[in-house]
Amino acid sequence: MNKDSRIYIAGHRGLVGSAIHRALTAQRHTNLILRTHAELDLLNTNAVNAFFAKEKPEFVFLAAAKVGGILANNIYPADFIRDNLIIQTNLIEASRINSVERLLFLGSSCIYPKFAPQPMPESCLLTGPLEPTNRPYALAKIVGIEMCWSYNRQYKTKYLAAMPTNLYGPGDNFDLANSHVLPALIRKTAEAVKTGAAEITVWGTGTPRRELLYSDDLAEACLFLMNLDETCYSSLLTDEAPPLINIGTGEDVTIRELAETVAQVLDFKGQLVFDATKPDGTPRKLMDVTRLHNLGWHHTTNLEQGIRRTWEAVRTQLS
Ligand code: GDP
Repeated sequence: MNKDSRIYIAGHRGLVGSAIHRALTAQRHTNLILRTHAELDLLNTNAVNAFFAKEKPEFVFLAAAKVGGILANNIYPADFIRDNLIIQTNLIEASRINSVERLLFLGSSCIYPKFAPQPMPESCLLTGPLEPTNRPYALAKIVGIEMCWSYNRQYKTKYLAAMPTNLYGPGDNFDLANSHVLPALIRKTAEAVKTGAAEITVWGTGTPRRELLYSDDLAEACLFLMNLDETCYSSLLTDEAPPLINIGTGEDVTIRELAETVAQVLDFKGQLVFDATKPDGTPRKLMDVTRLHNLGWHHTTNLEQGIRRTWEAVRTQLS
């Protein structure tokens, strides 16, 4: 990408898209193309085609999706599979019609089988049953990967699918009922500090392990991939395997360690109480990031720094 390349970020208000937007702005890209949901309905094929014909983006970050926690996935499974299939199909097809140079399709680690080997390599895609709670969402994303691969073979496009591990950062959802573990722990700990409570309750046994990537690090990885030289980029787009790359840290921590780090950053001196009646979920979820590391990218924000930055950004809103 040149500084004046026409770059469209689909979903620039979300956790991923907003981080990509910040990173591109920091690198002084001058031709960013952005549309809010109100300005462009990505479910509307005609509107998407007219937008692409007018704006002619050269690079597309496809970070727009219908996302949600286990609760939302459970209540609205039809909306999750339909909206994601339509959004990504509209954007991939409009990119082809308008000769987009490179497209990066963002997904999530839930595309991999529930009992995948740990760490999970890209090659374990479609080797076993999925976690049932978000299967409609995961299947839509798997179709998106398959579309990128099919378009590359049939139309000679250069579409790459990037699957990030669990993300966190300032734009996260801090609602206790349906947030992920890190924002939930930040919120609970902030409240305990505010009220002077002696303990906070952590769900489960504290022994499951999770890998966490700071959203700005993910954005750096996405820019790194978009900017790969032709040889390296093409090496990811072969006829033999899906054009897929994992983005993570390659490191995981226990939920207990995570809760302790949050307590340290927020200066909470009380006790952590583990509520084993709440579900632990899968014992371990770790990406194999060999492919990314071999290209030369490593994350730079460690967990404590990332939690500190997230906390600085949200503390006025939470305390
Ligand atoms: P998962 O990675 O898909 O399992 O989703 P979560 O991020 O919601 O949960 C990860 C782990 O954190 C599970 O073992 C939860 O039991 C544990 N956990 C501990 N406290 C909390 C909490 O307050 N909220 C959530 N969502 N998870 C928690």
